[in-house]
Amino acid sequence: MQITEVREASHYIASPMRNAVIDFSQMTVSLVALITDVRVHGKRVVGFGFNSNGRYAQSGLLRERFFPRLLAAAPDSLSDAAGELDPWRIHQALLENEKPGGHGERSVAVGIIDMAVWDALAKAHDIPVAVYLAERFGRERPLDSVSVYAAGGYYHPDGDLTSLRREIRSYLDLGYTRVKMKIGGAPLDEDLRRIEAVIQEVGEPGRVAVDANGRFSAAEAIRYGEALAPLDLAWYEEPVDPLDYASLSDVAASYPGPLATGENIFSTPDALNLARYGGLRVSTDILQMDPALSYGVVEYARMLDALRACGWSESDQIPHGGHQLNLALGAAFRLGGIESYPGVFEPFGGFADDQAVEDGFVGWPEVPGVGLEAKAGLRPLLAELWSE
Ligand code: MG
Repeated sequence: MQITEVREASHYIASPMRNAVIDFSQMTVSLVALITDVRVHGKRVVGFGFNSNGRYAQSGLLRERFFPRLLAAAPDSLSDAAGELDPWRIHQALLENEKPGGHGERSVAVGIIDMAVWDALAKAHDIPVAVYLAERFGRERPLDSVSVYAAGGYYHPDGDLTSLRREIRSYLDLGYTRVKMKIGGAPLDEDLRRIEAVIQEVGEPGRVAVDANGRFSAAEAIRYGEALAPLDLAWYEEPVDPLDYASLSDVAASYPGPLATGENIFSTPDALNLARYGGLRVSTDILQMDPALSYGVVEYARMLDALRACGWSESDQIPHGGHQLNLALGAAFRLGGIESYPGVFEPFGGFADDQAVEDGFVGWPEVPGVGLEAKAGLRPLLAELWSE
């Protein structure tokens, strides 16, 4: 099995909402096709990957650095003993001549290629990637469905609680039972009114999480935490800058409920720093690293190993992202759950068209690979990159 060609296209996944820090109106995503010399049922095996939302397309890094490096590598150096593509050796080849540290944009570019590699491998075996991942990592058969929550609760342009409640109600109507909402983009008393409205709509504070997107200083985060603590929310996400472990530790010392963070942590060393110095509490707090933003499955599995040595288990992980690779990993690795952004970041975000959310759980499609072809909205974009 060899890679014969790689292609990339950048697409808008613009959404009109904002959180406390950024708006999403200019957001882009890279879609990659990794073309192989293998055929299954007469069809060429082509792996597709894209980066998760919240970051931008990686066209420059992919075209100028990672594609040339991938195509210049001796084919044997990218394969295992059976002659199949080896995701670990590909990871190593992509990161040749890259200094340690400074994880961020390049981890997104590598993560896109990694997704395409796993998609191609599962397609070559003619099985869903959740099944393939479970087999490769020596796990039991993957879960049929994974706990999923709806992330939203945005600041609506009119600042109206009625439209916020309507948004949240639409998630419950889709089958979600837990939701997450933005905070920190309005004064505390206004945010408290928004949270109260969402709790009323959902019916239970333990099914409502809040996300400050790293906006607060330590003092502000603690002040918000004092107001939030009596509400007994599901979790309080990214209260401070994602790399400010000392401030996070101060928040953890004063906030009794679950904290969540990790969507802006992109490597095993960074995950270890968070575990060692973030003051987080095993079996209370939640880690949200997103494999598609963090060099892919290869690095994510290393993170899980490193975190397990610090006491964290798979059930403590609820990855950011809301896409099908994380769903497959959630099923294969039996993670605590996954995120979803119903109706936004389309057509890349979300799950297969035939997999409705039921009572807060979502399943993966019985199709070979990651399942991007199981989304009608994505098929034209895949066909633009590759068709026979
Ligand atoms: Mg977040």
